[in-house]
Amino acid sequence: MIPRLKPRFGLAEILTAAHVGHDGDIKRFENEFAHLAEQNRAVTFPYGRTALVALLDTMGLKGKDVILPAYTCVVVAHAVIISGNKPVFVDSQEHDFNMDIEAASAKVNENTGAIIMTSLFGYPVDLDALDAFRERFPHVKIIQDCAHSFLADWRGRGVQKEGVAAIYGLNISKLMSSIFGGMVTTDDEELYDALLKWRVRHLQPSSWSKSLSRMLYLLATYPAFYGPLYGFVNYLERNGFLDRFVRYYDESLIEMPADYLVCMTPLEARVGIVQTRRYGDIIRHRRDIAAYYNATLAPYAGKLGILLPPNVEGATYSHFAVQTARKAELMEKALNHGVQLGEVIEYCVPAMSSYAGSLQPDESFPVAERFSHTVINLPLSCSFAESRHVASVLLSELN
Ligand SMILES: *Cc1c(COP(=O)(O)O)cnc(C)c1O
Repeated sequence: MIPRLKPRFGLAEILTAAHVGHDGDIKRFENEFAHLAEQNRAVTFPYGRTALVALLDTMGLKGKDVILPAYTCVVVAHAVIISGNKPVFVDSQEHDFNMDIEAASAKVNENTGAIIMTSLFGYPVDLDALDAFRERFPHVKIIQDCAHSFLADWRGRGVQKEGVAAIYGLNISKLMSSIFGGMVTTDDEELYDALLKWRVRHLQPSSWSKSLSRMLYLLATYPAFYGPLYGFVNYLERNGFLDRFVRYYDESLIEMPADYLVCMTPLEARVGIVQTRRYGDIIRHRRDIAAYYNATLAPYAGKLGILLPPNVEGATYSHFAVQTARKAELMEKALNHGVQLGEVIEYCVPAMSSYAGSLQPDESFPVAERFSHTVINLPLSCSFAESRHVASVLLSELN
């Protein structure tokens, strides 16, 4: 079976994980990651969401409005709440899944502290529109959420550099991975020092047992994502046996994982270093497969009842997000042909019961709502031969 996603772990990750680690590994990972992101500084955290809590806190934001997309990973909204701020949701724009900056402008007031700009699915935030926003609202701090878009660029400008700081998620579903983990990058030295102090004050040191459990998790990904076994994993997942590992939210709760305040392990940092070096190859491969899907499926998209994602230069393709009203039917059919078409962000955050209290009575998010029902993901972390199979399964619908 071709999985909807697959971490690009090879032999080097296992070998490096088997070494005895020390805290210098964390520093090395940060240095290499900062270099990759072309930023002066990088700071690791146990999760991307912890990185965001730390960032909002060190930026001195408390009791502020923080603007974020309605259509994004729910943990972003959770982090805003946990940091003691109020999420203000904004609907998406049609053409590239990203937050509508025009609509965001309408929600700015004097209590707005920050805006979280997300390059969703790897489509770079429109930096021309963001420049205009920044000029109009100089009091609103800009945070880049690069969890889907490490190094996506808008007309030659890296999105990660266009704000106070950028956050990244590094779990196995992301573009590159340190098993779990998160990161902040910034050029601001004062903020960097404050983040280091925050980490000392709020995080517990990682323990031996955390390293061991990360090691076992890493080892488990090899058989779990191995094609011939993946059908079984998919069966377990569909029947709820893997909920403990794969469910990352509960509709009615705003909560963080139990270890969200325990430092990243040196083992994860070493895996992250290997992945940082692979990053260029990973992105090239994903862009090639995305180009192949676009070219092969475009002539038949109408007949298939699918809308292909935009073809944006500089996108990093964390997902190949196709919209279709035939979501359940296509997913089922693909599964019968050994292809897992994943759902991605199958919710609109402000529509979740836990956020009902954060909304104004007149707010609605029609575009984000629609995305939540219609978006599926074609596999990108597969071989070229596998991507041809995926396309042929979809095209066989035409017969
Ligand atoms: C995954 C993700 C994050 C944060 O990642 P965690 O490490 O899971 O906390 C933030 N933003 C977006 C858009 C994500 O997809």
